[in-house]
Amino acid sequence: MEVATGKRIPFMAANWKMNKTSQEAVVFLSQILPAMREVTGVEKVVCPPFTALPALANLVKGTDVGLGAQNMHFEEKGAFTGEIAPAMVKEWCAYVILGHSERRGIFGETDEMVAKKIRAALAVGLVPIVCVGETLAENEAKQTDSVVRRQMTAAMTGLTPDQAAKIVIAYEPIWAIGTGRAAQGPDANKVVAGSIRPVLDGLFGKALAQGTRVLYGGSVTPANIAEFLAEPDIDGGLVGGASLKPDYIELVKAAQKRLG
Ligand code: PEP
Repeated sequence: MEVATGKRIPFMAANWKMNKTSQEAVVFLSQILPAMREVTGVEKVVCPPFTALPALANLVKGTDVGLGAQNMHFEEKGAFTGEIAPAMVKEWCAYVILGHSERRGIFGETDEMVAKKIRAALAVGLVPIVCVGETLAENEAKQTDSVVRRQMTAAMTGLTPDQAAKIVIAYEPIWAIGTGRAAQGPDANKVVAGSIRPVLDGLFGKALAQGTRVLYGGSVTPANIAEFLAEPDIDGGLVGGASLKPDYIELVKAAQKRLG
């Protein structure tokens, strides 16, 4: 795990969403793991469903491929039927996606809940991958900047600089997720450079703002990944649909090229 210290190591995260049984997950990751391991200098994280975490933890043991969960509850334990606690996630992996738009939109997660989850994840030593992004209506109403700043401020306010330095941000315009309609690289970069990093700068200073990894997510494919990685403020990708196919490896390799 890298923290925000200046040089931004490229970061590629696969969000499998609610796809693949534990057995299917093992078959698929076994297929691409050798090629993933050959890619050096990139932080590589696979986020399967909770049920596949134990089997995949066994599979990636001793490799440089990390595992993440896609969600967790903020409470430590108790009467929360169906929920998974931070320490339960930490048993199997090192990362957790928080505030994904499907959690916000379908399951009613608010900025406040996401903020609580971030704090709970950090408390057990998980690295939060925090998602922010605007809806199509907000985009069309030119509210992207205000929405993203609001989400970032809610997520990060009150953290110590040490805590903030552990976080990875993913800019995911909601209208681009799973739609096949990716953002334009320069537009995504503008949000990262003009809305996301300035919030970090205001709260924690320039060094942290410039040292934090910010990913782009939303219909990333092998055909368009280079467009995002060419942007100076985008450090990698959070990939949904395209991470379920063997050529996901092409995306990981593309991140490696960003180093050179
Ligand atoms: C996501 O789920 O975070 C995502 C970006 O999905 P997709 O790549 O399928 O748009």
